[in-house]
Amino acid sequence: ASNAKFFVGGNWKCNGSVASVRTLVDELNSGVLNSGVEAVCAPPFIYIDYVMQHLDSKKFALAAQNCWIGGNGAFTGEISAEQLIDFGVPWVLAGHSERRALNGESNEFVAKKAAHAVSSGMSVIACIGETLDQRNSGSVFKVLDAQMQALVDEITDWSKVVIAYEPVWAIGTGVVASPAQAQEVHAYLRKFCQAKLGLSVADTLRIIYGGSVNDANCKELAHMEDIDGFLVGGASLKGCSFVTICNAGG
Ligand code: PEP
Repeated sequence: ASNAKFFVGGNWKCNGSVASVRTLVDELNSGVLNSGVEAVCAPPFIYIDYVMQHLDSKKFALAAQNCWIGGNGAFTGEISAEQLIDFGVPWVLAGHSERRALNGESNEFVAKKAAHAVSSGMSVIACIGETLDQRNSGSVFKVLDAQMQALVDEITDWSKVVIAYEPVWAIGTGVVASPAQAQEVHAYLRKFCQAKLGLSVADTLRIIYGGSVNDANCKELAHMEDIDGFLVGGASLKGCSFVTICNAGG
């Protein structure tokens, strides 16, 4: 990992119940976190209030899994960044591959949403990554360039952004990228940011890896030079596994 503070996000996705969220919060509260880690949990919207009231905020910050592209208004079913800020939620995910694939979110839509969230005062975990077909056809860097360029075109304050590289073929599949595969892409993304955003932004930007990270594979990945943390799906639903992954940065 680079010198930036190690960052680990837990994406609970559309999982959980009142009972299981209570259990997970209790497990997380009993965990011991390294002082050098920034840990964030992203529950489904409906449980955010409970989690905010019961999760130890000295250990874990809160994220929403999504927000609307703009401000309040006639957007039935949506929740705006302004409302999340009003409620006290500091982080939001943008562009998770499930939203890109299942909700048709384009690079431009994701970038506009991320930029609006940042300008509303939120911090954003912006997710990018290629599919297996794109990897197999040799277009990984072309795909990532387009996803990153859309973000570069819209976002003005990069101090509030974490980039999550999540190869789609690794998400929820149990097929984790090898440390070398992940490092290759993270180093590429760092160079991209150096060229487009300047050295100081690129040096401090957290580039985190997501895709089948668990308590057994996290250490090796965390040792790679340009891996500054993780975005965790399945393993974030088990308190002890998530705490182990949070502590993988050393
Ligand atoms: C994710 O949803 O961002 C993710 C990486 O999922 P998993 O850890 O389950 O692969």
